[in-house]
Order: sequence, then structure tokens, then C-alpha cells
Amino acid sequence: MITLICDICKKKVDNPITGLSFHYYANHSLCEPCKDSLELQVKSTIREKEPYTTDWYEKYLDDSISKAIQKGKI
Ligand SMILES: [Zn+2]
Repeated sequence: MITLICDICKKKVDNPITGLSFHYYANHSLCEPCKDSLELQVKSTIREKEPYTTDWYEKYLDDSISKAIQKGKI
């Protein structure tokens, strides 16, 4: 059995299915609830971001995940 650990909340995910119960974002491993929270946070920021660039998005995503890992939550 494969068990992966979420980088943010440190919860174990048994038999992870990539893209369904487990997600990879900016070289980090995220469980479903953390990925949902991250997407909500990112979406609300993107709406106010002008102009939107892929470089900015990737950096923003990476920064958001790094901060969340430090806090242990999104
Ligand atoms: Zn998590």
C-alpha cells in the first residue's frame, strides 16, 4: 500500500490517486482539502490581478504553498 503525506497539513493519504485524492502543485504534494483551500485562495487573488501572467501565477502559487507549509495550513 502506498501512503503519501500532505506537505501542508501532514495528513496521511492511503492509496493516493494523483489528480483525485492527491495533487501535485509547484513540486509540492497536497491532499484534497488543502488543494481545495489553495485553489479558493488563489482564485480570489487572480480576480484582482492585472495583468495576469503565467510567471506571476507560478511564483504566487509557490509562495502560497511555502507559506502554508510554514503555518501547517492554508
Ligand atoms: Zn493537506
